[in-house]
Amino acid sequence: MTNQDLMQAHNQYVMDTYGRFPIAISHGQGATLYDFDGKAYIDFASGIGVNSIGYGNEAWVQAITEQAMKLGHISNLYYSAPAAHLAETLCSRTGMDKVFFANSGAESNEGLIKLARKYSHDKYGKNRGTVVTLMQSFHGRTITTLAATGQDVFHNHFFPFTPGFRHALAGDMDSVKAACEQDTCAVLIELIQGEGGVLPLEKAFVQEIAAFCKERDLLLLIDEVQTGIGRTGTLFAFQQYDIAPDAVSFAKGIAGGLPLGGFLVSEKCGGTLTPGTHATTFGGNPIGAAAAAVVLDILTDEILAEVVDKGRYIQAKLLEMDSPHVAGVRGAGLMIGVTLRGIGHRELAEKLNHAGLLALTAGSDTLRFLPPLTIAYEEIDAGLAILQSVLQK
Ligand SMILES: *Cc1c(COP(=O)(O)O)cnc(C)c1O
Repeated sequence: MTNQDLMQAHNQYVMDTYGRFPIAISHGQGATLYDFDGKAYIDFASGIGVNSIGYGNEAWVQAITEQAMKLGHISNLYYSAPAAHLAETLCSRTGMDKVFFANSGAESNEGLIKLARKYSHDKYGKNRGTVVTLMQSFHGRTITTLAATGQDVFHNHFFPFTPGFRHALAGDMDSVKAACEQDTCAVLIELIQGEGGVLPLEKAFVQEIAAFCKERDLLLLIDEVQTGIGRTGTLFAFQQYDIAPDAVSFAKGIAGGLPLGGFLVSEKCGGTLTPGTHATTFGGNPIGAAAAAVVLDILTDEILAEVVDKGRYIQAKLLEMDSPHVAGVRGAGLMIGVTLRGIGHRELAEKLNHAGLLALTAGSDTLRFLPPLTIAYEEIDAGLAILQSVLQK
């Protein structure tokens, strides 16, 4: 099978809803991928921040295989060991009280919204269900998480959207306060806005939101679907902000490539969602949970410190490139945005793909890197050399 065969078969039967790059990936090892024609690519994309421990990790393959031989699925009507162990690890490493397991980022964020509305309804009654989010945010593709997303381009076609969301300006506390009217139950934020352009929030701004939420008894909800699971150099990004969120969602990197998500809640909200109020068939699937346990085992403090070092190394090299196209570099850990000038982000990503480096775009002018957290320095150097040569052309 060649790339061309596969793309043709795929396009004939799969709906055309993605701006796919014309590359068909066959397999990978470490942070290097191979297409069906045998060409190698350095991976600075990791399946959009999902393949956190790279490809072909033996412990991950073994855990999945062993769990699949024992039990692949049982539903949440019964107890299973992998989810129980994973929940304990997540709570003990974050100081959070309890977890709910879901399957994707959008579904996990829907859980945050339901949590906040129920917490508020239980305590204050009706008409206090509005969730304030930030401009340039991205919270998912369901009708409700699209409504939560603070980008007008996403508020199209699918009317009517779920009511109960207001958007405030990132970095502007007056705007957040103005948006939090009497009907508000929560503020939902990403700490580094990923899809919006790799836009980090200032620590002081986040701490002001946290204090304001506490004062008004609004829940502070953090969407860590992209920033979580070691991406920014701590297990969760909120751990760098000296805040105590009420709930934190996660997904992308948690299971190293299998679909798993969920959200952690503080003690205050540990009993808010009760039997019958929230559920999902696949959530906490034994194979996904077993895979996630391996990911969390690998992400020790030492490895997380390396994520910080590698991120700094990449950022320094990017600035040294001194290309007229590189306008700026930002991000944390291995979540890095390169703002461009004189070249479109999609155009550059296509050229990089062609030259053997997989990279992502974000916002309107940003090239985004989310390499596997375990990427080797040789692979980083190889990827940066490709970027350098493409930028010089
Ligand atoms: C990717 C992403 C989502 C959506 O996750 P899906 O798994 O695609 O539903 C939500 N929030 C953030 C911050 C994301 O990066």
